[in-house]
Amino acid sequence: MTITEADYQAELTALRAEYAAELPGRLSEIKALWHALESEAWSTDTLRMLHHQIHRLAGAGSTFGYPGMSKTARDLEKRLLAWQRRPDHPDAPAWQEAAARLAQLVASAGAAPDLAHDAPSAPLLAPMESRLIYLVEDDQALAEDFRLQLGRFGYTVRVFPSTQGVEAAVAEQRPDAMVLDVMLPEGDLAGTDLLRELRAHLDLGDLPVIFVTARDDFDARLAAIRAGADAYYHKPVDPAFLLDRLEYLTRREADDPFRILIVDDEAALAEHYALVLRQAGMRATALTQPRQVLEWLSNHDTELLLTDLYMPECSGMELARLIRQDDRYLSLPIVFLSTEQALERQLKAMSLGGDDFLGKPIEDRHLVAAVTIRARRARELRALMSRDSLTGLLTHAHFKERLAAELARGERNGSSVALALLDIDHFKEVNDEHGHLAGDRVLKTLANLLRRRIRRSDVVARYGGEEFAVIFNDCGERDALHMLDTIREDFLAIQHGDKEAIFKVAFSAGVAAAKPDSVVDSLIEQADQRLYLAKHAGRNRIVANQR
Ligand code: GH3
Ligand code: MG
Ligand code: MG
Repeated sequence: MTITEADYQAELTALRAEYAAELPGRLSEIKALWHALESEAWSTDTLRMLHHQIHRLAGAGSTFGYPGMSKTARDLEKRLLAWQRRPDHPDAPAWQEAAARLAQLVASAGAAPDLAHDAPSAPLLAPMESRLIYLVEDDQALAEDFRLQLGRFGYTVRVFPSTQGVEAAVAEQRPDAMVLDVMLPEGDLAGTDLLRELRAHLDLGDLPVIFVTARDDFDARLAAIRAGADAYYHKPVDPAFLLDRLEYLTRREADDPFRILIVDDEAALAEHYALVLRQAGMRATALTQPRQVLEWLSNHDTELLLTDLYMPECSGMELARLIRQDDRYLSLPIVFLSTEQALERQLKAMSLGGDDFLGKPIEDRHLVAAVTIRARRARELRALMSRDSLTGLLTHAHFKERLAAELARGERNGSSVALALLDIDHFKEVNDEHGHLAGDRVLKTLANLLRRRIRRSDVVARYGGEEFAVIFNDCGERDALHMLDTIREDFLAIQHGDKEAIFKVAFSAGVAAAKPDSVVDSLIEQADQRLYLAKHAGRNRIVANQR
């Protein structure tokens, strides 16, 4: 199903109005429960009902224009959760503090909704592959909001208001991911219970599961981990955040194998490990001499190093220290493989910059599992560290590193690499006329458009404030120009802003292809010069080779 921008706006406005209309009723329910709790015998059932009501406000408030109310509700919720283990009323000071929060909550709910807070961003026109999401969420309005927002990015969201029917649906059609609330009508841990049951009855394989919940306590987080959750978000959650995570989790690892380097002076053993990892779908290389390692690392984007501890030329520990001296490899996970059993030595190895220790001999499937877990964690960490927080794209510094690596790779393989630098036209005016937030949303929209439209092997980065960079791998200047030009046209067609002020934005770009002797800085300079020409020729255009 496709949703037009007008539909979306209308539905959002209707949802918000509905929410605002229901709010007074919800608040009087809360006040009645509070009063019952205060004046009658201590009842954990009443407390639970109260908690459930407050939790719904915490989760949905921000989305519908009441961020202050959400915040206070979250605070109050924590207090109520802590009370659930009490056999009796809490003492007077604790009670009064919570009562003050409740008064604050009622006041913030009375304020006019801040509708600008969560105004939707502009539509995306990029073609998208649809992905199916099952959302188990009892807060109907919130579920509907997620359904709409994710829908615009090519996700089909099927909503379940309780755990009922979920198992049958999963058995019938596997979704690409699941998003679950923890607290559901069936109980305070119904979401994690559901996942456990699904795993017990069905083979879920590596189906990604995300929890989005108002519970931020240890028990809930632990239950989620035990049930096998891939991510855990505390409400209110920014849909853009959830989207990024879904994009990441639904991307298939098989398309992007882990890149592992193995170092062992025993050639047969090194080859054996490499073979085992390759059979598990990874890209594994075996080296027998530690002195080859630095050169390999500088030419190959390696995600994990597996090294023997005892080698005649240079020990694994020395190798680790050597590698860590280079800033580029500070976060490369190093795993020692050795028969060394003495704990002291193992600890010493780790303190010298090695991250981990695996005993030798190791069973093949253990090796695969151990390497997979560590490589996946390293990949996630790296993504977090190297991404710009607004757009989720690579940062300037990481982009340059990546460009150097791609240039080296292109040279080795004899394949061409093209670089494009993009700069949004008259962006200062966008900020001046529509505000900085609207400007930020334009940046996000362009980032998403680029991410969705380039090929998986290409790289896109936020080069500076309103400047972006794209590395086109295995791609000549002309092809890069064509690809980017269709993106330019699509971006120009997007309507930014809201109902009151819709505006359009363009970008200019310069494209340059790498020559055999190109270095990072010269290539960037050439693309930048062409970008300058594009600006001076009137903007909203792309300049490539001027022959
Ligand atoms: P030109 O067409 O020549 O590129 O004009 P311009 O207005 O886009 O260029 P200029 O470099 O003068 O202005 C860039 C503006 O981008 C100024 C700066 O405030 C804004 N900007 C940079 N980073 C951000 C950001 O993260 N968010 C927002 N909203 N604005 C930003
Ligand atoms: Mg600029
Ligand atoms: Mg600009």
